[in-house]
Amino acid sequence: MLAAWACDPSRSRGRRHREASASDRSEHQRDRDRIVHSTAFRRLVYKTQVFLNHEGDLFRTRLTHSLEVAQLGRSVARRLSLGEDLVEAMALAHDLGHTPFGHAGQDALQQCMSEHGGFEHNLQSLRVVDQLEKRYPDFDGLNLTFEAREGILKHCSRRHAARLEAIEPGGVGRRFLDGTQPSLEAQIVNLADGMAYNAHDIDDGLRSGLLRLEMLDEVPLYRRLHSDVLRDHPGLDRQPGRRVIFEVQRRLLSLQVNDLVDTTEAALRDAAPGSADAVRRSPPLARFSDALREENRELETFLFRALYRHPQVEDSTAKARKVVAELFEAYRSAPDEMPEDFRQEEDRHRAVADYIAGMTDRFAIREHHRLTGSSLFGQGF
Ligand code: MG
Repeated sequence: MLAAWACDPSRSRGRRHREASASDRSEHQRDRDRIVHSTAFRRLVYKTQVFLNHEGDLFRTRLTHSLEVAQLGRSVARRLSLGEDLVEAMALAHDLGHTPFGHAGQDALQQCMSEHGGFEHNLQSLRVVDQLEKRYPDFDGLNLTFEAREGILKHCSRRHAARLEAIEPGGVGRRFLDGTQPSLEAQIVNLADGMAYNAHDIDDGLRSGLLRLEMLDEVPLYRRLHSDVLRDHPGLDRQPGRRVIFEVQRRLLSLQVNDLVDTTEAALRDAAPGSADAVRRSPPLARFSDALREENRELETFLFRALYRHPQVEDSTAKARKVVAELFEAYRSAPDEMPEDFRQEEDRHRAVADYIAGMTDRFAIREHHRLTGSSLFGQGF
């Protein structure tokens, strides 16, 4: 049973291209299924989250990250009687527009496109599901429902929002112009994204050796959970393996999920929105308690300084930027090096950005080697 404020798939605002409804699945289930079968979704396997894909087999990739976001989002959605299928669809699609090499690739592409209309990864995710996937006879893109597209476009500059609004009046760009909110399902996915990466970046950071448990003692939230675990399981830290880390991780995620559900339930009781549209007109209703938000902020500050800015990560980042920038220049000056559908695009800079954004890390590295002769990441691709 869905709550009054949930997005009910039977009352969807619909798809941009008219289609008959399916008898066996809801509209939001169909969205989810289309995303899972898309080419862009499969590419997430070989796209970096923080650690480059080839640095180790056990680090998160964009795919496993997206699955973790979907798991967390669904847990929260179920407890709040929200649309689980919609949450899952948005979670699985939220990073489809991410470039190879994580944020490094995105920054580089942004720079290359700064004079040519810009590049924003959330907007690119929307572009993937609206245009770049070409697998249906009658339209480009996956033709997802408004509700799924609304959540996929998590952020958007006013400039791009105005452009979207001109193409699709009252569509997914509107809320960035009038300052309204997306559905609760979209708000949940957004918070689940942060929950997932904060937790798994600690785990990957420890696994890589760039972080050590003692360093995390300076993060009050982590320190508290760590000492709770050792209180409940004396000696666990002297056992071989990673049980202590996993147990802290488990408690960290439970804490986040429970806090989000409780705080959001209280906000919903107070605001009592009568519909999904009433949610959109309200201030953000999905949220953490003030105390946990502050603790999460401390955790993120730590991760930024200790992990994302770690010299070893920065070294990969610098190489990744170079690969993307040089690929951009190579295709811009020789568009014939790109596949035919990208050569046909009128706006050459956009075509190059689309092509590079779709690449996996290893494909980008191979193409870079083929076009420039240099091997920034060594041999083996
Ligand atoms: Mg994400």
